[in-house]
Formats: sequence, C-alpha cells, structure tokens
Amino acid sequence: MISLASRREFLHEVSAWASAGLLSDRAISAAAQATSAVARVEGAYIDPRRVLLWESTRKEIREALESGRLKAAIVPTGSTEQHNEHLAMIQDTASAVLVAQQAALALYPQVTVATPVAVGISPYWMDRQGTLTLREETFLALVYDICGSLRHHGIRTILIVNGHGGNDQPLKRHVAEFSQKLDVKLDACSYWDAFAEGSGREEAKKIMESGIGADDLPGHAAEFETSIALAAFPERVHRDGVDYDRATLKLDPAEARKDRRHYQNSLLARREKGEVLIRIAVEWVATRLQRMTGNR
Ligand SMILES: [Zn+2]
Repeated sequence: MISLASRREFLHEVSAWASAGLLSDRAISAAAQATSAVARVEGAYIDPRRVLLWESTRKEIREALESGRLKAAIVPTGSTEQHNEHLAMIQDTASAVLVAQQAALALYPQVTVATPVAVGISPYWMDRQGTLTLREETFLALVYDICGSLRHHGIRTILIVNGHGGNDQPLKRHVAEFSQKLDVKLDACSYWDAFAEGSGREEAKKIMESGIGADDLPGHAAEFETSIALAAFPERVHRDGVDYDRATLKLDPAEARKDRRHYQNSLLARREKGEVLIRIAVEWVATRLQRMTGNR
C-alpha cells in the first residue's frame, strides 16, 4: 500500500509540475489514479473499490458473475453505538468492513463485499448517548434479505463477518435456518473468532497486555478495538479533550466499573498491536471463506 503521507507528497509534486506547465491534463489524472489506495495481490495492483459491491457498477458485477470468477460474498455486520469516550460510534461496522475488504482482496477476484448492516442489536448501550439499536428480528430480517438478494443474483456462498458482540449469538443461532431457506452455503463468524484458538490465540496472548478473556477481546473500546482503530482508521480515535474522571455518566455501579476498566485498558492500545490483530483476522476470514468455496 502507498501510505497516505507519501501519496499526498506525490500529488503535491504532481500539481507543482502541472502549474509549471510540465504535465498535460491526461498525465495529471493518470498520476492521481496511480496513487489511489491500492493493494498488491499476487503481483498485481488491485483497486480496493473493486471488491466492494456498493462501489461496483452493474456491468462489473454482471461480468464477474457471467465469467464465473465471482464465487462468494461477504456480508459485514456491525453497529452504531457508543464506544466509550474516545472511539467513533461506527467502530464495529468499520472493523467488519475492513476485515471483509482485506479478505476479499486476498481472494481477488472471487469475492464481493455486500453493503454492511451498520446498525446492530445494542439495547444494552442505550443508557449511553448516541447508540442506535435494532430489534433482533429487524436485524435478522435485514441480514436475511441481503443474503436473499445475493442468492437471487446467483451467489451461493456467503460468509457473514460480524464486528459487534450483540449480533454474534443471534447470527450464529439463525445461520443454519437461513442457509436452508435460501438454499445457499452460509456461515457466520465474528472477526475476533480468529483469536479463539490455535496460533491466532497464541499471537494475541503475546500482545494483549490486558488479557484475552471475553471482556478484553473483543472487549469494548478497550485495548483490542482501540488498537485496531489506531492501525486502520486513526482519524476515528479522539483522545483530545477526553477527561474520563469528569465525564457525566449515569451508570449503575457495576456498569460504571466496567466502563472505567475498558477506558483504562484502552490506554494500552498501540497501532502495532492493531496491525498484527488485523493481519491475523484477515487471514483467518480468508481461509474460512476459501474452504467454503472449496478452493482449500
Ligand atoms: Zn465495538
């Protein structure tokens, strides 16, 4: 990947050449294209847009289906909910999309990422301002209809990649029923399942200073999620002006203790930890999907 800073510098230089009359319009736009965020997959540069269904044109999707190269879809599910004092509400959705997109790029051109379900089942955070929640039946109906739409277009292998704790069990309880009703190969996982066992668990254990219990991984806006945000979307980490001790939270004592612990653990977050955690989750999701499509 070309880093944002070097991209900016490059574009700055290009515009300087242009104003000096050294470049034609066509050369300028080609340069801008060449420096858009790209991923290198098996020796070729792939525009990450190409694995996102909502950024694709109908021509692109039609041709991918007709050629047989598009074999599967990922449906990311997340939430829009409070993430303590310092993370954006979109954290879970952004994380699920990130892992889904990177896994789809690793398997390019076989996988498309469907539009994420960006509100989840979060009734238990409604005492903290900003949280949106769906009823379980509403959330499941959305997921079901998205999978049904993909099936309609001929995609018969679908992996739901979830990024929010409250969606995890409802999805896993219903996935077999949805699979049967829709006649698709369907599975659901949360991206932190990558750390439940094996080498993923061992690697996470080495870097997670707060531990790898359920309350720490994924935890809530603590070391794990804050590290992911620092690595993938640091612009969504807002430490400035946060004074936890002066926050006017109206929580019962047990909730208040948990909320404070999560905040304190978030101070252990590091970008480097996030990079490792993301790599493991992406590889794990890609492998799981590859097994579903029968390529491994
Ligand atoms: Zn979260």
